[in-house]
Amino acid sequence: MKYFSTNGKADAASLEQAVIKGLAPDKGLYMPECIRTLPQEFFENIDCMTLQEISYHVATAFFGEEIPADELKRIVYETMNFEIPAVKVTDDIYSLELFHGPTLAFKDVGARFMARMLGYFVKNSNKRVNVLVATSGDTGSAVANGFLGVENINVYVLYPKGKVSEIQEKQFTTLGKNITAIEVDGCFDDCQALVKQAFMDEELNEEMFLTSANSINLARFLPQSFYYFWAYAQLKKMGREKELTISVPSGNFGNLTAGLFAKRMGLPVKRFVAANNSNDIVYNYLQTGEYSPKASVSTIANAMDVGAPSNFARIMHLYGSSHKDVCKEISGATYSDAQIAGGVKECLQDNSYLLDPHGACGYLALKELLQPGETGVFLETAHPAKFKDTIEGITGEEIEIPQALQQFMSGTKESVQIDKNFGTLKSYLLNEEQSENDKYYN
Ligand SMILES: *Cc1c(COP(=O)(O)O)cnc(C)c1O
Repeated sequence: MKYFSTNGKADAASLEQAVIKGLAPDKGLYMPECIRTLPQEFFENIDCMTLQEISYHVATAFFGEEIPADELKRIVYETMNFEIPAVKVTDDIYSLELFHGPTLAFKDVGARFMARMLGYFVKNSNKRVNVLVATSGDTGSAVANGFLGVENINVYVLYPKGKVSEIQEKQFTTLGKNITAIEVDGCFDDCQALVKQAFMDEELNEEMFLTSANSINLARFLPQSFYYFWAYAQLKKMGREKELTISVPSGNFGNLTAGLFAKRMGLPVKRFVAANNSNDIVYNYLQTGEYSPKASVSTIANAMDVGAPSNFARIMHLYGSSHKDVCKEISGATYSDAQIAGGVKECLQDNSYLLDPHGACGYLALKELLQPGETGVFLETAHPAKFKDTIEGITGEEIEIPQALQQFMSGTKESVQIDKNFGTLKSYLLNEEQSENDKYYN
């Protein structure tokens, strides 16, 4: 299968090229040339299959031509080896808990899959690749843990000094091996600007192979479609799969776009709800047809603080830019911090179910928009303990820290400190590359 750019000005790429590059040369996002429909019998038997079996079927439809079956199976089975329960919250609303992976957030799925797929391509072509990623917290931990120990790939996580929580920081500064945390004396936007500049710097790109690991990368974003099929299978087991409406807490819209791909593959989802915090760019688009990116605002659901959602281009492409067609399948919702806090409190009181601030947006959107006869599933994208202070401040009750998080807390932080000048990052990376080369050839 070939992959082409949403901007239409770059040559079609192979899967390997698209995954190693990330962004297309014309700055567009890669899309597969076709989205295959899965056979009817797959959907008939889906409730008898495991998460790994379902995921492997879906992965084969996308990647089966380029990656040998045994390799693809290994990549999928190693990625999807944790639980994703669908938990009943109210009579009509279920929570799909995507937070049982190593860093307790749904980004584990995409990061682990991408690490293994990139690892496969790198090994096959004898390359050495460097992944650069800027993080305000969650992306860094998922990417670092996903790539930990993958051969011939070095990961550099850039994060703003003093601006991520201790728990988040520990998840990517204590790993060692091929993971380096770079602590930047600046804010998140400075980190992102440094990464962008690095990708554009000719000299740096001649010396070393650089790639990104955010949700523009196909290998990070497409595997997120696996658990939509799994959600349907769980609801089918309970006889609740009719009129399925899925609510997705959204920032860059990679997660929701993966759901749209699942629907194109034949998954019987009636419609989607895009749940935003007060970063309401897509909400406004759905209401008015006008898309106006703007600076992001900080909220308590901070992994969704995005002012220019990168995967919007993919959504436009899927619907031929028709606002009318988009609105047939997606409705929008937006919530202030006060409303999110209210949702967490209410859901705990009424249903004894503790939400995190992101999942709370998904839950509130179903409460607001679910119609009679529909069954709602919201994606619970992170464990509430990742936002311990915020959640405890809302509920007044202490949250127990899960074992997986406690383990990170006992590690020792190691980071490289730099200022926010690009020259500092560049000479650091060039030095690192030099010593890697010495290791490689000696
Ligand atoms: C990244 C993230 C989101 C937003 O996902 P997108 O794919 O960027 O829309 C939502 N919740 C949590 C906890 C996240 O980490």
